[in-house]
Amino acid sequence: MKLRRLLIISTLFCSFILLPGFISNTLSQNFTVVIDPGHGGHDPGAVGKISKEKDINLNVSLKLGRLIKQHAPSVQVIYTRQTDIFVPLMKRAEIANKAKADLFISIHTNSVSGSKTVKGASTWTLGLAKSQANLDVAKKENSVILYEDDYKTRYAGFDPNSSESYIIFEFIQDKNMAQSVEFASMVQNEFKNHCNRIDKGVHQAGFLVLKETAMPSILVELGFISTLEEERYLNTSTGQENMAYGIYNAFKKYKNSHELKTTKNKEKTITANSTPNTMKEEPFKKTNTPNVDDNNVLSPQPKIVEESTPQTTTKKVKTPIVESEDEIIFKIQIMTSSEQLKTTDTRFKGLKNIEHYFENGLYKYTFGASSNYNEIRRLRKEIAPKFQDAFIIAFRNGEKTNINEAIKEFLKRRNR
Ligand SMILES: [Zn+2]
Repeated sequence: MKLRRLLIISTLFCSFILLPGFISNTLSQNFTVVIDPGHGGHDPGAVGKISKEKDINLNVSLKLGRLIKQHAPSVQVIYTRQTDIFVPLMKRAEIANKAKADLFISIHTNSVSGSKTVKGASTWTLGLAKSQANLDVAKKENSVILYEDDYKTRYAGFDPNSSESYIIFEFIQDKNMAQSVEFASMVQNEFKNHCNRIDKGVHQAGFLVLKETAMPSILVELGFISTLEEERYLNTSTGQENMAYGIYNAFKKYKNSHELKTTKNKEKTITANSTPNTMKEEPFKKTNTPNVDDNNVLSPQPKIVEESTPQTTTKKVKTPIVESEDEIIFKIQIMTSSEQLKTTDTRFKGLKNIEHYFENGLYKYTFGASSNYNEIRRLRKEIAPKFQDAFIIAFRNGEKTNINEAIKEFLKRRNR
């Protein structure tokens, strides 16, 4: 009896000792920011007249990290590199994912061929490029993977210089997009209003490094190394500090507005077997997440979006795709109906060879069928005036399958 009482008392005592510790630990959970100085080592990034991009990026990154540590000591600052070393693109995202970071800031310096006068800072988030110029920025930054020996397998046949490779970004559903855009806008505001930089705006494009991160993420282009005046500025400590301050001020604002939400972000699912870059994605679905276009005007997401499929997918290119002889067929879904329609129904607007499949109690009508994804894309564009909401779906051996995986496999097979 005595022993039992003792046990109860000691259990209670321990609970009181441990409880406050547990609470304070939960409340003081740190905000983690990953700072990613672009390029490094044998990858110089863009090269100017007097400097290399990798050095500007590193200097500004280190200054930014110091500012955060100095003014917000509770924030955990992690760098993807702190010296002049080469870090593969995938590894950079992996560092952030492993740390379950709350924010990812990739720092770069822009360059453009054919102009020695273009100036200005811009901030980028993951998305579909809306212009050739935007696509070119992503191509340039993504081509760093060519410095990696095994990039063909590691990035599943992604060719950073081929525009066609970028179709995978058409189907990305980035649940962090709104926050990324919010932070990007804050950074851009600072650049414009407090750093006195020419405002090149917030844009979206298919950056591989942003695709792999599982938290709100941005990529900053500090200025143009190809314009001597701006290159000089970015090589002065005043210039570097100014840019670092701009990002720091935006960081502070962003963090303050998200302070209470950070614990939620800690609970991210990582697949059991996996490397950190196989974060589970939500099934693809329609989204109203804002999209920032070239004119900095909020506009809805591209109209063609994929509907939910029951199966989850990984958005990671690294995942090895098993060689198979599965037959993959792409089709365009044009409408759904709770009752079966005649192929002559006027709602098909005269389209011939309409097919259907049955899913979740609905008849789903499709047009076109091809193993060539590009052909189906062309067809979709053709019928877009009549069927604005049409979207592409995929079937593997006759079973509906995840469109993103199907596209990846299509690209892979094509590159074989
Ligand atoms: Zn770069």
